[in-house]
Amino acid sequence: MPSMYHQVLIVGGGLAALRAAIEAKEAGLDVAVMTRVHPVRSHSVAAQGGVNAALANAEKGRDDTIEKHAFDTVKGSDFLADQPAAITMTADAPLRIYEMEHWGCPFSRTDEGKIAQRPFGGAGYPRTCYAADKTGHALLHTMYEQAVKRNIKIYEEWTVLSLVIDGGVCRGVIALNLRDGDLVPVGADAVIFGTGGTGRVYGRSTNSIIVTGSGMAVAYYAGVPLKDMEFIQFHPTSLFGNNVLITEGARGEGGYLRNANGERFMEKYAPKAMELGPRDIVARSIQTEINEGRGFPGGYVHLDLTHLGAKKILERLPAIRDISINFVGVDPIEKPIPIQPGQHYSMGGIDTDADGATVIKGFYAAGECACVSVHGANRLGGNSLLETIVFGQRSGAHAAGYVRGGGKGGPDERLLREHLHRMRERWEDLRAADGPEDPAAIRDLMKETMIEKVGIFRDEAQMSEAVEAIKKLQERYRRIHVGYRGRRFNLDLLRTYELGMKLDLAEIIAKGALNRQESRGSHARTDYKERDDANWLKHTMAHHTPDGPRFDFKAVEVTKWQPEARRY
Ligand SMILES: Cc1cc2nc3c(=O)[nH]c(=O)nc-3n(C[C@H](O)[C@H](O)[C@H](O)COP(=O)(O)OP(=O)(O)OC[C@H]3O[C@@H](n4cnc5c(N)ncnc54)[C@H](O)[C@@H]3O)c2cc1C
Repeated sequence: MPSMYHQVLIVGGGLAALRAAIEAKEAGLDVAVMTRVHPVRSHSVAAQGGVNAALANAEKGRDDTIEKHAFDTVKGSDFLADQPAAITMTADAPLRIYEMEHWGCPFSRTDEGKIAQRPFGGAGYPRTCYAADKTGHALLHTMYEQAVKRNIKIYEEWTVLSLVIDGGVCRGVIALNLRDGDLVPVGADAVIFGTGGTGRVYGRSTNSIIVTGSGMAVAYYAGVPLKDMEFIQFHPTSLFGNNVLITEGARGEGGYLRNANGERFMEKYAPKAMELGPRDIVARSIQTEINEGRGFPGGYVHLDLTHLGAKKILERLPAIRDISINFVGVDPIEKPIPIQPGQHYSMGGIDTDADGATVIKGFYAAGECACVSVHGANRLGGNSLLETIVFGQRSGAHAAGYVRGGGKGGPDERLLREHLHRMRERWEDLRAADGPEDPAAIRDLMKETMIEKVGIFRDEAQMSEAVEAIKKLQERYRRIHVGYRGRRFNLDLLRTYELGMKLDLAEIIAKGALNRQESRGSHARTDYKERDDANWLKHTMAHHTPDGPRFDFKAVEVTKWQPEARRY
């Protein structure tokens, strides 16, 4: 039977992937989406607080401009973002938001009927557009409707395991059809990854279990460098005990952070911005309060919304109230919410340009799996949803242009079969694995190692220990057993396969962090406390080799604003 084939294959069903698919389909191409879960179960659906665009709709935001949004993004990034990319993203933002509005996204409204905007951290103006505290849900369902309306073919519950590359050109993928366990070669003239982040490499993560980083790993193994992976965002406010996210929108609506003495401690750390400082600074401030004994027993502080009143909470933060009641038994109308920082987002990812293009012709990436870079060392809240729709659109358009300009026009059967054969051998070896090591125990240790030793505060001794620990876990992984060997919906086997990928990503994060001898954005070293622009104003690039990652560096594009001290 000949291989499956599509001119443009989109991998992932979240916001970035679906936006790319819509764009390529609009260009008249044969487009398919292949996703591990049904599109509306993608992690984008969990986004809460909102999406940024300088629309100047809010009363206090009339002076907002695209340029101010770009500057806030660059300053928030601790000057590691590539400035032309940040300018592109913020310039496209209003266009993409109005497009979502016209497609039916039910944004919350101002009294005048305009899209409502709330303040978010590190932003000079209220510029975060929202749909109560369910913005990801509203955006993703709207985007999915648009994909369905265009009859885009969607392969649900398929997972891409490897890229098929020939002479530096992408020719398709090898995918696992979860329903029957078959490995299937799929030819494509262009492949776009919108495969999301890598949160579950860490313990105490706000991300769901499907956020494994597998797309990043697949690209890395195929020869695409991963950029700036050491920059991991820790969100200031996740629920104490289970790390379910409590959106920054709660502080945007006026919530206070208080320590066990009842003090609004942000006064000490960001006297002007207070609770709406950028995430890296607020997360460090909370952790400092806890570390220095001003937190509550067990290690948390309070997010106090009680003064906002029931009406505001019910109207603007209904999901936060439900989450807080259901997961910790606290009604935020009456009592403060116990919170602690949690791993949240990966600033790094697959190295792309502002069109999603990578070093492999015909291979693109967009959304959280990609690093353009617009977030640099610290992402501003609301800029990630924005990144998905801006760079999803741009990568779809560029891939379509690439295919129209010289697509190969069909699958290369010999090449696909060769790749299939190799992948099948690896897969079957794993299915038969019968060693003494338990994958779940390795996974737990990896997550604990990363949160404890490559966490909010880092130093050389801890990170060296993490590198050693990961190396040992990689050795143990070679001696694992697989619990269930069936073919249909064998998620156990897939998770075990992905554990190998996660360990490799953990190694890249830990080694990249150990290398970088400075503090910048989310990378806060207690042994190198200052930012060091003379030596470290550069992107880390991790290249795959059989012996682990090889690192080199790439210049940051500083075109408009010279690095300055970040004060908030
Ligand atoms: C709780 C929470 C709240 C957030 N709130 C906000 C917010 O308010 N504002 C904001 O800007 N950002 C927010 N973020 C961040 C933002 O939601 C994400 O960064 C963004 O939605 C990621 O979108 P994406 O399209 O890149 O990937 P995702 O939505 O994660 O989609 C990835 C897709 O890829 C598929 N996939 C993955 N690997 C494979 C594979 N190998 N083969 C096939 N398919 C694969 C998955 O099934 C999924 O469909 C939040 C994040 C979290 C965790």
